[in-house]
Amino acid sequence: MDVSASAAGASARVPDDRAAQRRYWDAAVETMPRERLMEAQNVLLRAQIARLWSASEFYRERLAAAGARPDDVRSVEDVSRLPVVTKEELREEQELHPPFGRFVTAPASQWQELHPSTGTTGAPVNTVWSKRDVAEITDFTARTLWQMGVRPDDVVQNAFAYGLWVAGMSVHYGAARLGAFCIPAGAAIASQRQIDYLLGVRSTVLLATPSYGMHIAETLRERGIAPEDLALRVGGFGGEAGTENASTRAKLERGLGIEAFDYYGLAEVGPTFASECEAKAGLHFAEDHILVESVDPETKRPVPDGEVGVLVFTHLSREATPMLRYWSNDYARLDRAACACGRTHVRAPGGVLGRHDDLVIFKGAKFYPVQVEKAVRAFAELADEFRIELRRTSAGSSQVSECTVVAEWAAAGSSPGIEERLRRALKEELGVTPAVRLEPYGTLERTTFKAKRIVEQAARG
Ligand SMILES: [Zn+2]
Repeated sequence: MDVSASAAGASARVPDDRAAQRRYWDAAVETMPRERLMEAQNVLLRAQIARLWSASEFYRERLAAAGARPDDVRSVEDVSRLPVVTKEELREEQELHPPFGRFVTAPASQWQELHPSTGTTGAPVNTVWSKRDVAEITDFTARTLWQMGVRPDDVVQNAFAYGLWVAGMSVHYGAARLGAFCIPAGAAIASQRQIDYLLGVRSTVLLATPSYGMHIAETLRERGIAPEDLALRVGGFGGEAGTENASTRAKLERGLGIEAFDYYGLAEVGPTFASECEAKAGLHFAEDHILVESVDPETKRPVPDGEVGVLVFTHLSREATPMLRYWSNDYARLDRAACACGRTHVRAPGGVLGRHDDLVIFKGAKFYPVQVEKAVRAFAELADEFRIELRRTSAGSSQVSECTVVAEWAAAGSSPGIEERLRRALKEELGVTPAVRLEPYGTLERTTFKAKRIVEQAARG
């Protein structure tokens, strides 16, 4: 064997750019000992609170109503005593003081772009990014991508929705900052065309909602294309919970031939400020920019690490529309223990466990759609889509009188006893047994954005 030839061959596969071999995007920040990280947070926090007090009538009123002066907020612990702010309050504020409310704290000359939040109910909340905000968002988004293994020689197919939705733009900026080649595919094209790009341009990274990722995998199967025929190696899936469900992750990984990572953000806070690392040990948050709390839904005070609470976020450096204790509605548990990857920033193992709005209370049991997903996707005999049909005891009530899980046969067709096995799996996962109905493959609508899992049926008169 010609040793020199094989050595040359090996070096040809290694990117020339030494930066690409770095383990971290920003080692000093990402591996900072927690004590120093918290000191840095406190310094930023004091400056941020002083700015909110002087520049925002909205926050000044709220702080004063809580009996707090800027000097009272010295550390991250002090923040936990302040009131939370909800999307409804921001919406009201913007209705009273259109179009942005009195929580914009950067002069208009510094504004770069507008991103309203998506929501199923009510008017969207307008979020403004200043030029400096965009620079920061771009940097920590590049970090989240690097964390998932994206490198400058990658071809990133961005199937997050572009336009007003935040993640399309932030990820585009982040991928460019990182130095990757980006295909701004967006979510408005059919999965067939996504596959054309995957095949034709040899994309190595796919970014999408998990629902869209599943749909693309399903279309690949239907077209008889094996994952090995693609160049994909990394997938980042956000905008919906569920990527960290073992069965969902396995289906995404097998169906697309990738390593699948959970990705998280919120219009008002993020947009893309948390992702998993190679250890797949939960979402790492960019704590040098955003303070992360998990709180008791009643008392709004932090719960101990490992306990489930609602995520609450505070911007430490956001300039245009900063959030002070923003109530995310997302349930998760936090872990500040060292991660195998060496990063010190807080993690949410398991990702988002559910949305407060999606909680189903049926026969005394409480559960989230993500738990139904876990049960359904554990069956190879079933397709990836599912719905939860609910009939409430009365309109607007959280109590549900009828609950039916609708799933589909996999393309291969029926399998004896599957309904009973699914019922048992659901009982195990939810603590209650819903009705089960199986439909032929392809019956339920597929999505390129966020799937609507819960279908409301009129309450019986
Ligand atoms: Zn890690």
